Formats: sequence, structure tokens, C-alpha cells
Amino acid sequence: MKKTFYITTPIYYINAEPHLGHAYTTMVADAIARSRRLLGQDVFFLTGTDEHGQKVARAAKAAGLDTREFADGIAGKYKALFATLGISNNDFIRTTEPRHIRAAQAIWRRVRDNGDLYKGTYEGWYCTVDELFVPESQLVDGRKCPTCGTEVERLSEESYFFRLSRYEDRLLEHYRTHPEFIAPEIRRNEMTAFVAAGLKDLSVSRTSFKWGIPVPDDPAHVMYVWFDALTNYLTAAGFPDDEVRLSRYWPADVHLMGKEIVRQHTVYWPAFLMAAGLPLPERVIGHGWWLMHEAKMSKSLGNVVRPQGYVERFGLDALRYFVMREMVLGQDANFADEAFLSRYNADLANDLGNVVSRVTTMIQRYCSGVVPARQPASETGLDVELEKTAAATIGRTLADAARFDFSAALRSTWELIAALNKYVVAREPWALAKAPESRALLETTLYNAADALRIVTALVDPVMPQSAARIRAMLGIEPETWVDLRPRTLPASVRLGRIEPLFPRMEHTVDELRAMSESPKTEGAAPAPAAAAPAPTPAPAGGDKISIDDFMKVDLRVAKVLSAEKVPNSRKLIKMTIDVGTEQRTLVAGIAEAYEPEQLIGRTIAMVFNLKPAKLMGIESNGMVLAASPEGGKPTLVSFDGEIPPGTRVR
Ligand SMILES: [Zn+2]
Repeated sequence: MKKTFYITTPIYYINAEPHLGHAYTTMVADAIARSRRLLGQDVFFLTGTDEHGQKVARAAKAAGLDTREFADGIAGKYKALFATLGISNNDFIRTTEPRHIRAAQAIWRRVRDNGDLYKGTYEGWYCTVDELFVPESQLVDGRKCPTCGTEVERLSEESYFFRLSRYEDRLLEHYRTHPEFIAPEIRRNEMTAFVAAGLKDLSVSRTSFKWGIPVPDDPAHVMYVWFDALTNYLTAAGFPDDEVRLSRYWPADVHLMGKEIVRQHTVYWPAFLMAAGLPLPERVIGHGWWLMHEAKMSKSLGNVVRPQGYVERFGLDALRYFVMREMVLGQDANFADEAFLSRYNADLANDLGNVVSRVTTMIQRYCSGVVPARQPASETGLDVELEKTAAATIGRTLADAARFDFSAALRSTWELIAALNKYVVAREPWALAKAPESRALLETTLYNAADALRIVTALVDPVMPQSAARIRAMLGIEPETWVDLRPRTLPASVRLGRIEPLFPRMEHTVDELRAMSESPKTEGAAPAPAAAAPAPTPAPAGGDKISIDDFMKVDLRVAKVLSAEKVPNSRKLIKMTIDVGTEQRTLVAGIAEAYEPEQLIGRTIAMVFNLKPAKLMGIESNGMVLAASPEGGKPTLVSFDGEIPPGTRVR
């Protein structure tokens, strides 16, 4: 493996504020960067802002600001967003910085000295939104840009041209001999067809506006934005002055971006580099678009998701997990709040959150909070199977991450979480804990479970760095790389840290989430209210019967057990923290003879919601669990078919 790894996001154009699209590219690049650091590479991760061009000058004017002031403001918003998203970039470049102006002028001179720039007159249809001349054949309704729908303008001006037409054959040859250069394959096929259809020389300067980098020796011209912008990847790598740094990081390993700018990065950029006599980047990856209501998220369509709201409500890692799990690299994906909630509750609260809570709680309870040693003699096929699954999961997840496919990597890791949950249920440590002769097997079980949890933690680290740190703190272990990650290397005798819930179950409604995005209001989009209670009918008087009015006074609800522990000095009582949808409550139940606390964590129960609080062994209980209590037998909790959200009423 190479010693260094250089990854870039596009530099984001600052004519508007950042949204989920920008956040997504940067979060994926961050996960890639983190995974490479875990593999021991010297990673250079670059992001930044593209600040020149007519569109920025116009946006500043519209905002009543000086252009530089406007640029500072938006660049600051990007920096703040990336801090909120936990982005681990090593550098943030702004194309208005002196180092970049020097680099762009240096590459211009090289290209010019190579004979690839000449002066001419450009006349054509120009889209000021995309800052591109649009070929007449591609215009929509004769006047509109095919990308954004804005009316194009006729522009004619003196311009420098880059001899792109010279590079057709060399580009096609490069695509052929470096099939990994453009990913996914569909983009490579598109670009091959585009170049094969013939390339025209490219207009690379403007005289009609001033907000740009002056062309060397001809200051009436400023550089056309792509020539300026693409060069940023070289600037940050030390071009043109720092040759040591440049040879260390250039060529870049990955340029990551949305698919709409793959052409500029796989046709213009390599041609500029060839003309300047510089090596080409290893790989250009174009990811798909986030769609909302089946349309691409964009400011002009008013369906933009701002990521900050999700981070505030669900935590950063929930957003990072969702976008990376949901979007298969290269394909489009829908940002749906229903899917967000269900992934949060199923994958994070239920699968990952529960297994963390279970394993740590059991070590706390049965081993005084110290990870026990594995006792090989006690192992059975179940333990061997878990070890095999863990080893296979490491291999698969690392291979998925090496292909930059974090959706697959997370799917792989979740197979180990499922296996670990199954292992605990099958082994029933709570039953082992009752029989002194099972002590060795109990300790082995808890060791193996904690060890598998350690592996899960290391594997989710690039996508969910905050959660990984929290689980490590609970397990009392240090950060771990991927270099030598393998099962059964957890040191025994480490003391657990403070145990805390990782992903508390969330009951935000889809409506609440929708209010966080700027989606257009649609008629009748609100979900239908739950069926109204039936009209009370008077019950026949007499006997022990109660009227439906009386019954309706009892508020029965579904709840979920978040944590559970035995009440000290009591044979029967268990104290639980439960999630009732709108809040968390403490509830004490006399079910300790039938259930171990660990069995209850994550379980859905039915309860009386509006019972007056009662004190049991000094603990205030808010509500009562419903259980069938057969004569002379142990209580059995009422349960439900399927997953019912906490807070649901029972009638
Ligand atoms: Zn356009």
C-alpha cells in the first residue's frame, strides 16, 4: 500500500449557502480519509470554496455586499458546517488566497508555453447560472439551459482558448489504459462517448467581468472559472513552489464529486494537466444525487435539506450513518424522512444501541464491571461461529471500504452486530449467571461478546467517529487501527467506563422532520390522524361490569425498555427506564423471578400510562407493566406481534 493518500472534494461554489449535497460529498470524503488513516496511510484531505466568477459577483451585489465580504461570509458558513459534521480535513482552500492565485498563473504559463493557449473571439449561448457556454443543439425551447432551465444569454467577447481538441486521442487512450480512472463505470462510458464525439477548443478567459484571477501578461482577461478552480488541487499539494510536498502528494488518489461535474474533472482537468506536463489524478469518482420528492435537491427548486437540523435532533453520527448507508455510491438516492426515522430506530437504537447496552450491562452486573478472561476449555460451536463471523466481517468491511463503498461496508458490519445479538440470546448469560458451575462459560461469553463489540466499534469508526469513541469509553479501551484488526485481542481485566445510552429511541413524527427541510407544501401531505375513539355506549347497569367510559379512563400504552436493573434487597422487583414515546420514565415491576434485567432491555411492553405514581422500596414508579400472572406461576409480560412504536395507545 502507498504511504500517502490524497483525497479531495470539489471546492464548493459560494453563490449560495451549503445544503445536504455539499455535506454528503464532504462526509463521504471524510469517511474515506478516516478509513485510510486507520490503515496507516499519511492522508491529505482537502476541501474548500470556489470563489471567483460572474455568479459570485452578482450574488454579492444582490446581497448588497462587497464581493470579498460576501465571499468571506459564505466561506465561513462552509467551515462552520464542516465543523458541525465532524469533518477531518487537513486543509481548507479558498481560490481567492494568494497561494492559489500564484498556482493558477503558474499553470497558465506552462500551458501557454506548451502552445496550447491562443486568443480568439468567442460567441455563443452562455448560462450564467452554470457558467458554461451551452451548444445551440442542447438548448431547451430554443433559449433555455438544459441543466438548470435558466434563459441563456448571447455572449461575444475576446477570449483565450485552450486547445482541447488536441487531447482527444490522449484522453481516450488514458481512459482505455486506466479503467479505474473514472468511476462508476456508467460515467466512464459517458465520458468516453463524449470525447469520442469530438472535442472543441475551450474558452478559458473572460473580459466581461473582473472578479477572477488575472491572466498573466494580459490583465484585461480573467481566467474562466474552471481553469482557475480545478487548479486548487495542485495549489494545496504545494504547486508550484514546494516540490517536496508536491512529489509527496501529487498525483491525487481520489477526486470525489457529484456526477454533474465529472466531465470537467475527466476531460478538461486531465487535458490541462497533460498540457502542463503534470501527472494525472488516479481516480475521479462521481456520486449520484440526493433526490427529494423524486427531484434533484436544488436551491431553485426549493427542496433543499439543511443537515444541521438532523444533527441537532439525532446527533451527528445518525446523519452520517443514514446518508452513507442509504446511498449506493454512484446511484441516486431519495432523502425520505420515513427512511431516516426507520433506519435510526431499527439500525441504530435497536441493533447497535441494544447490543452495546446489553454487553456492557452484563459485564457490569456479572463481573463487577471488569472484562473477564476468555476460558477456551468452555467454548462450544457457538463461540467458534462468532469468531469466524467476526473475522469474515473484518475482511468484507475493509474490502468494501477500499472500494469506497460505505453502504456495503455498513451492511457488512451490521451482519456482525446481528450475529452478536443472536449469540447473546442463544447463550443466555442471565441463565448462566444463576448456576455457579457455568461461571467459565459465562466469562467466556462476556469476553467474546465484548471482543466482537470492540471489532464493530473499530469498523464503524470512519462513518461514526463520535459513537465509536463513546463505545470505546464504555468498554474502557483505546482507539484501534485497522492494520492488525482481528478477533480475540481485547485485553482482559480492563475496567468499563460509565455506561450511557448510545442512540435513544426517537419518536419524532415525519411532520416534525419535514419542517426542517424547505420542501414545498403539498396539499393533504399530513398523515391522517389516528382513528377517533368509538363513541361511548352506555354499558348495561349492574354486576361487576364497567362502562366503556370507565375503561377509556385507563390509558394503556406501548413502551420500550431502555435499561433495567434489579432493585437491591428485593427478590421480586426490577427497576426499568422506559421510553413512552414522549418521555422517559422510571417504572418498578415485580417480575424479577421471571425475567433477568438483560432480557428486558430493548423489549416492547404494555403499561398503564396514567396510574398515580407509587413508591416501591423507596423508588417512585410511574405506571404499571401488564403481565399475565397465572395462579402459582411466574408472570409473563404482554407482548405484541411486530414492532410497535413506544407511545402507541392500546385499547
Ligand atoms: Zn444553466
